[in-house]
Amino acid sequence: MEILVSLLGLGVGGLVNALADSLPTSRKFEKPRCPACTAPRPLSSWLGVVALLSNNWRCPYCDTPRLWRTPLIEIVMMAGSLWLFSTDPHRTFFWPGFLILSIFLLITIIDIEHRLILHVVTGPSALLIGLLGVLDPERGFQKTSVGGVVGFGVVLGLYLLGGVFARLIARLRGQVLDEVAFGFGDVTLAGVLGLSVGYPGILLALFLGILAAGEYSLVHILFMLSRRMYKAFVPIPYGPFLILGASIVYFGGRPLVDRIFPFGPLWFFILLVATFAVIYVWERQRETN
Ligand SMILES: [Zn+2]
Repeated sequence: MEILVSLLGLGVGGLVNALADSLPTSRKFEKPRCPACTAPRPLSSWLGVVALLSNNWRCPYCDTPRLWRTPLIEIVMMAGSLWLFSTDPHRTFFWPGFLILSIFLLITIIDIEHRLILHVVTGPSALLIGLLGVLDPERGFQKTSVGGVVGFGVVLGLYLLGGVFARLIARLRGQVLDEVAFGFGDVTLAGVLGLSVGYPGILLALFLGILAAGEYSLVHILFMLSRRMYKAFVPIPYGPFLILGASIVYFGGRPLVDRIFPFGPLWFFILLVATFAVIYVWERQRETN
């Protein structure tokens, strides 16, 4: 059974790679192609792991090597599906977890590689994940839908706040700023994450995600400063960090959540806004100096 589960992970990992390659350009699924010369890949190199082991790593037409992402994602999917199966092989646990893992990985890859969160991914994901949440006896309609609305609403608020803040700074300095911290894709993503972890889990997920993103940009700024390369406000992709937060809540489950989340939801909301404000103001200030 474990062999079947890991083969499933490998296959779906290959599917996630193919979707991550084709969706950003054509918005639809296409069979695996070489990104450099667009020649269709032979069947023997559809999967990154197989291509690596069978010495088909480079494109036979233009000799361009594959992205290391392809075998990596397949291995992560294999390990993830084995972990899910060994935690609880029951189908009401395994399949939702498997689906959410695949979707989270797909969104992460596309956001890192293209700085894009595609509606063609978040739309169907919201439907599927929402349906699974409603059917889950431990979650139900209310927790799932409130989670989706709160996720969408909180990040929409931060998105609008960021826009107001950017305009305010722009007016004070008499010049136009076109970067915003959150894109609208992050707003729809937060809705999907809310549907997957429900309420109140989404508050913790967002908090952890924004905290992680803040730490990342702090390290990034320090690194750039140390090399005297720091210039202006560099927008970072928030998607992968929001997904990280939601993954901790979803896959870590109740025990992990209780350990990090001993206060009420209101406190978390206040902390969330405060953290975001500190990071945002700090970055803006660095920019003006
Ligand atoms: Zn090629």
